[in-house]
Amino acid sequence: MGTDRQPPTHRRALVSWPMSIPPPPAPTELHPQGRGVFCNRTLNLRSVRAIGYDMDYTLVDYRVDAFEQMVYAQARERLGTEGWPVGDLAFDPEMVTRGLVIDTELGNLVKANRFGFVKRAMHGTRMLDFPQQQQAYGQVLVDLSDSRWVFLNTLFSLSEGCLYAQAVDLLDAGALPRPFEYASLYRHVRARVDAQHIEGTLKAAIAAAPERYVVQDPESALALLDQKIAGKKLLLITNSEWPFTAKMMAHAFDRHLPGDMTWRELFEVVIVSARKPAFFTEHGPFFEVVDEEGLLRPLLGPLRSGGIYLGGSAAQVERDLGISGDEILYVGDHMFGDVHVSKRTLSWRTALVLRELEGEVAALAGFQAIEARLLILMRAKGDLEARLSQARLDLQRLHAGYGPQPGPDHATLESRVHDLRGQLLALDAEIAPLAQAATELTNTRWGLLTRAGNDKSHLTRQIERYADIYTSRVSNFLLATPFAYFRSPRGSLPHDPTVSS
Ligand code: IMP
Ligand code: MG
Repeated sequence: MGTDRQPPTHRRALVSWPMSIPPPPAPTELHPQGRGVFCNRTLNLRSVRAIGYDMDYTLVDYRVDAFEQMVYAQARERLGTEGWPVGDLAFDPEMVTRGLVIDTELGNLVKANRFGFVKRAMHGTRMLDFPQQQQAYGQVLVDLSDSRWVFLNTLFSLSEGCLYAQAVDLLDAGALPRPFEYASLYRHVRARVDAQHIEGTLKAAIAAAPERYVVQDPESALALLDQKIAGKKLLLITNSEWPFTAKMMAHAFDRHLPGDMTWRELFEVVIVSARKPAFFTEHGPFFEVVDEEGLLRPLLGPLRSGGIYLGGSAAQVERDLGISGDEILYVGDHMFGDVHVSKRTLSWRTALVLRELEGEVAALAGFQAIEARLLILMRAKGDLEARLSQARLDLQRLHAGYGPQPGPDHATLESRVHDLRGQLLALDAEIAPLAQAATELTNTRWGLLTRAGNDKSHLTRQIERYADIYTSRVSNFLLATPFAYFRSPRGSLPHDPTVSS
């Protein structure tokens, strides 16, 4: 080797791709941004022997507006029969988002950051301004283990959140037929929404016209088929009842499977009315579904391949399949019922389906130029602030006559302080609208689901803690393949040295 060649710099050596290996395609060449499988904790799919799937909003994707509008309308009608003046109320799908928290004590909806600090709040349907928010939450942290707070875990929560906010307005206006506290009002609204899911009308209407509610995703069927033929045992574990499950799964899957194959052949075991999260924590009995109408008989022996079951427990699934803990990946959309509890109780590997992620990533991509500008402006602001602080300290030392004395005299320092303050004000005026736009991405009231101000949102914190991987939809596994090795990123820390470009 000649001595005239410079050795590669450390940085170049690290970032250049080894010559012998063709570079990987950029992710955007493979799939639209936001369709990736994102990894918090390294997960090797090859060592996963069983994959459990939730159904609603996981394997079967619904048009949120249509589904939630229907739940909302039926719950509102019920309240109308109780004398509530709800005739003029309408479902607003933008009013609340997944990841917000209902404060049942104050009748508010709040968005909290990863530490539980409230970053935005709405009383009824009116956003609080900053002083009001500080007054209500300056000393209060959101703690989900306290029943005061109700986390909106899934897209099923949107109708409930919207109706509660509107009900708070009615209560404040003295328009309700009987007195309520904000907490009892929540319980009342919740019970009405709950009833729609439990009584038959909602499911009957959806089953009668599934094409109005279900979003077809042809690639999901192939993704599951790939996993099954790769040797994974697929399990369906849903809280939905058997007739609804049978109808929805056939509608979403059968047409996309080869030949006469039906969705049933994909799954080793199907479990309906699973009562998650209790399914993961308790030891309820299994019943066998013995005919299409849903006739039941108690299950005496172990679960059998190809069987359809009701109720039961994850503990028995582990025992009968001879698979446990980190050999099972469970994929679901409910932050608590699907992901948090299965991870905490059984240490299953977990995947969260976050449908909103695609819009979130697209909005971030569209905002990149402004984000870059904001970064430059914020750096300039930090620099000006540091110079202002130094000038003030110089003045202080000059006045009090201690420490190293500054070179410039009093008047020069005063004018420097004045000048720097002016520059900061001008900079702030430039930053403010850009920073405001950043907090309004995807939803003007609440901003991005995954962020709260400059920080991670409370939802993001939970995703990090409990979901090993997360993705916008099940069909994203198609591209990943059943042999994927998802590696967690190194993760940045505030003290990491910045790499200058
Ligand atoms: P999974 O997501 O497949 O486990 O199924 C969710 C089931 O829970 C669906 O049948 C929903 O109708 C039902 N569900 C969603 N929200 C509520 C609720 O607030 N109360 C009762 N059932 C609900
Ligand atoms: Mg679900």
